[in-house]
Amino acid sequence: MRFLEKNFQSISKYLLPSACIVCEQYQEDAICSKCLKALDADGLLNYICCYQCGIALKTSEIEDQRCEQCKFTSPYFDATYCLDRYEGVLQNAIHQLKYHKRLSFAHGLANVWNQVFSGQLKTNNASYLLPVPLSEQKLCTRGFNQSWEIARRINCCPNIRKLPDVLKRHHHATQQAGGGLAARRLAIQDMFYLDNNFTPLLRDKSLIVFDDVMTSGATLNEIARILKDNGAAHVINWVVLRTARAPYV
Ligand SMILES: [Zn+2]
Ligand SMILES: [Zn+2]
Repeated sequence: MRFLEKNFQSISKYLLPSACIVCEQYQEDAICSKCLKALDADGLLNYICCYQCGIALKTSEIEDQRCEQCKFTSPYFDATYCLDRYEGVLQNAIHQLKYHKRLSFAHGLANVWNQVFSGQLKTNNASYLLPVPLSEQKLCTRGFNQSWEIARRINCCPNIRKLPDVLKRHHHATQQAGGGLAARRLAIQDMFYLDNNFTPLLRDKSLIVFDDVMTSGATLNEIARILKDNGAAHVINWVVLRTARAPYV
């Protein structure tokens, strides 16, 4: 299916106009040159960020390249790369994908990711890319996992295998929004588990976990904890949008 989609996209690029995922004006690429300039000028990539959690650093933190929160309570993951901040120009594209089920925005967001990170992330020596899962119930309601729909279209170097079925998520009736980081870490404990068939593959490997939005980091921290408990050597987060710094708790 991906082969057919790729071919269709590359042919239709020359035959049909497509809409920019930011301003929705018709032109050739996933993002128009004006919006790409805005992303370049105002994006998170312009800031010096914490290597571990991807948050923009305060002046006092720059020397260590790490935020105070990561220094105070080190997360289980080792590094985080974010395409942009949540409040930036790509927020609407994520909303269109998640809440209006417009799958073409997954293609557009992946294209923007490929454009911005071409070269930089290709040198990554990770073995597997795992999207953050939805519970079965949520998957039935939404119809697709937005993180996987973007991740499957990301250009990785050939040594990185994408495995969408390793991570599993229990269904919790209560939403995880609200509360401080400590409350969110507690609420999310044991929410994820691994498909045992894949566990031997992960031993001593570097893994990429792909998420559409990172807020407090509690979800990605819990996933990294489980992966490391099962023998993973390194866990690196690839995130589309990163929210601003969470208040201390
Ligand atoms: Zn545009
Ligand atoms: Zn940090």
